[in-house]
Amino acid sequence: MNVCRLSIVFAAAGLVTAVMAQSPAVRECSYDPAYLNRPPPRMTGPEPELGELERFVLDAFVRTYGDRILPFNLFTLEGESNVRGGPQGIAMNRAWLNLIGQPLAAAILAHELGHIVQAYGLIPLHEDAKAYGPEGEAEYFAGRLLAASGMTEDVFEGGVCPVISRYPATDTHPAGHLRVMLLRGGFYHDR
Ligand SMILES: [Zn+2]
Repeated sequence: MNVCRLSIVFAAAGLVTAVMAQSPAVRECSYDPAYLNRPPPRMTGPEPELGELERFVLDAFVRTYGDRILPFNLFTLEGESNVRGGPQGIAMNRAWLNLIGQPLAAAILAHELGHIVQAYGLIPLHEDAKAYGPEGEAEYFAGRLLAASGMTEDVFEGGVCPVISRYPATDTHPAGHLRVMLLRGGFYHDR
């Protein structure tokens, strides 16, 4: 790649970074609420690579919603062990997701994708989920999407639910045992 093309690439990446830095629509959900009141993170242009289970989740999402929503982006999140999402995209810290393992990473991606369809009024609603607000609805949606992605019951019950059940309640997110209840409600919806 010559210098000219390289500078165009860098300029484009800088533009994406500037746009994203100004976009609260990608920071609407901080999966780890501990980061909510911190300075805005860096979200950069390179798309994070997806693991196999995450790819299955994204494929299932696009199959169902792809032609009903605007294009969205996946971004690399730097400086915090977290994933952030909103109507315009999802910013993921790849290194952190690799540490926590594929099943949980796929569940987090599914949750954030829920916030995208939430913005379009397309999220499947459930009475229990509605009682816990947008975060509860995103968790219920995540359960349904994980099932649609082909995640097995063993992986879901062994690699997702035990970890999320230990999360404390916060101002934005219900307590872990409630989140697992909502996840299971979605996961077993069609069974
Ligand atoms: Zn959320």
